[in-house]
Amino acid sequence: MNLGIDDLPVRDELRGKSPYGAPQLDVPVRLNTNENPYPLPEPLVERIAERVREAARDLNRYPDRDAVELRTQLAKYLTDTSGYEVGLANVWAANGSNEVLQQLLQTFGGPGRTAIGFEPSYSMHALIARGTGTGWISGPRGEDFTIDLAAAEKALAEHRPDVVFITTPNNPTGTAVPAGTVLALYEAAQAAKPSMVVVDEAYIEFSHGDSLLPLLEGRPNLVVSRTMSKAFGAAGLRLGYLAAHPAVVDAVQLVRLPYHLSAVTQATALAALEHTDTLLKYVEQLKSERDRLVSELLALGYEVTASDANFVQFGRFADAHEVWRKILDRGVLVRDNGVPGWLRVTAGTPEENDAFLDAVREVKKEQS
Ligand code: PMP
Repeated sequence: MNLGIDDLPVRDELRGKSPYGAPQLDVPVRLNTNENPYPLPEPLVERIAERVREAARDLNRYPDRDAVELRTQLAKYLTDTSGYEVGLANVWAANGSNEVLQQLLQTFGGPGRTAIGFEPSYSMHALIARGTGTGWISGPRGEDFTIDLAAAEKALAEHRPDVVFITTPNNPTGTAVPAGTVLALYEAAQAAKPSMVVVDEAYIEFSHGDSLLPLLEGRPNLVVSRTMSKAFGAAGLRLGYLAAHPAVVDAVQLVRLPYHLSAVTQATALAALEHTDTLLKYVEQLKSERDRLVSELLALGYEVTASDANFVQFGRFADAHEVWRKILDRGVLVRDNGVPGWLRVTAGTPEENDAFLDAVREVKKEQS
């Protein structure tokens, strides 16, 4: 029997929808999912094997449900890198920041409630909202992809959302949101109704500016979300985390599945955190490669959105998808996020970026 999703009694809001997913194509140069191009260094691979071996001896038992050692080390990392002190009680971890965001929407969103994001932005915010039964509001962004404060404040006053997403640096545009704008949006959101403001800092380590962690001081309805998928080069690990008032950490426990973070995940993440300094060295290199992509694309005559992330949005194209395909034909996979006229390329190794720039040069020549 040939059954499709819509033949099943699925929830109405899921009918006719397709799952999130960037193409995972087997091409020589993959610059489409904002991954870190550098494999983990061998000494870290060895340390992971060691810690996982230790953890394996206890796999007959459930893991530490509260991930105390891991959260303590994540808190230390945040404190060391931001200068703003956070402790175990401020930090929560889950399987990727996607799960962190899902837990936040399960806790603070849900049926009868709404969340807002300023689009184009990370499309999973809207999809997680849908999955958790939270209504989604598409907030505005300016022509240059920055958040227009007056327009955003107006949207908050009008819609009075329960959850506000601010992604900085923003994906797919790379745009950073100044601290002053985040503060103003927090105030505007609270004036409309008590609501949670989630600052998604998945790419903050690549930013020219600082983390917004210090804004947590005295703001219990603010959450900063982070991930080890990008700067730590550990997308396959699936480890995301948040920093917030301890009450927020208590609140998400109401929805988290017991033992959601496996002992293997906790052991692997702890090993990676032992090698923070080595891992973050690649961040500097990626930042300079990101800046090189920006200047070379500009030199080629493209428009480029100012980027604080490990990727660059470039355009403009009459038909972005056609250009995407032509770049792919040359063995380089970039991302068509559906932002009309624009494509996004992740900063890879210098050789990968050269291959991308060669491909773009050829496509440009062909088109002129
Ligand atoms: N936030 C943003 C803005 C992202 O771009 C991504 C990944 N593309 C995530 C969160 C989720 O990352 P992960 O689940 O791997 O932590």
